[in-house]
Amino acid sequence: MSIEFKILGRPGRDNALLVRINSGKKYYRLLFDCGEGLLNGLKYSEIASIDHLFFSHFHLDHAAGFDYFLRRNYDRASKPVYVWGPEGTIKIIHNRLRGFTWNLVDGIPGTWQVNDINSQSILSSKFYASESFAKKHRVKPSPFNGTIIDNGDFKVEAVILNHIIPSVAYRITEKESFNISKKALVKGNFLQGNWLGMVKDFSFDENEKISSEGKLYTLKELRNLLLIRQKGGSISYLTDFIYDRASKTKARNLIKDCETVICESQYSTDDAELAKRNFHLTATQAAGLAKSANAGKLILFHISERYKKNEDYLRLLNEAGEIFPNTFFPDEWRKELKRRKL
Ligand SMILES: [Zn+2]
Repeated sequence: MSIEFKILGRPGRDNALLVRINSGKKYYRLLFDCGEGLLNGLKYSEIASIDHLFFSHFHLDHAAGFDYFLRRNYDRASKPVYVWGPEGTIKIIHNRLRGFTWNLVDGIPGTWQVNDINSQSILSSKFYASESFAKKHRVKPSPFNGTIIDNGDFKVEAVILNHIIPSVAYRITEKESFNISKKALVKGNFLQGNWLGMVKDFSFDENEKISSEGKLYTLKELRNLLLIRQKGGSISYLTDFIYDRASKTKARNLIKDCETVICESQYSTDDAELAKRNFHLTATQAAGLAKSANAGKLILFHISERYKKNEDYLRLLNEAGEIFPNTFFPDEWRKELKRRKL
């Protein structure tokens, strides 16, 4: 199991997050927001393998790159395209899909499922390329209890924050995994073999018996003896919201004990009034959240273009670092910031 991420977009410009998960059996790609030009640097094959596209909200700087994504995925045969976002996402994406002329589409593949995350429920609709995306096929709504995806490999949780309009923040958490302890194998005089696969595979019943070196064990006994539990990694994505009481509580609950928190820091603390007026966060507020939630690491992104990439960026980092020392800018920005003597 592994989870890794990449921040797309330059400092002071549109930004987004790409998460790659390798479960050992399957690869997943999750994209969070889709601002202008952000996908241009990715390989075609990578864009065409994005399983889920999550929008925080639909301000232009978070959505202007959608057509690029659409062009590479509208007729995807390998798997459906899932899109998630706040209330109104179905309407916006449907309008976008219908914003082009489609003909010669008879029988072509391409299934899209678009999901509105409302405070109480998730509304979903399907659209088909073969129908020129004309018809909206409603899917039965499901209750929203905080988790929007939960499969055997990872889960995605969401909360709705206040950006005057709803802005959705997300957390991805890998499921815990189990490895065979080499030490325990040696200690118990077990020989390596295909049977170890059964020990790790929980689809096999724990009462099933296995013989090793003339001794009979149940899978339960072997699991207790040989498996090491490995906690899954976690990444959160929070952008565009005001630091009011409700958003603060919801954001803190979402990122509790999260390994990596990627959070907007649109403004410096000196511009806190501006942050409030525009329903955004300051560096200090982002750091306060990370600290109160016992996060592992904070990565600041989505910085206002008003700041210079030398002393201003350093100031933002210091403001946050005073409260939460484990604060960084994205690795992807290192070159650009360093060039400017940061
Ligand atoms: Zn916004």
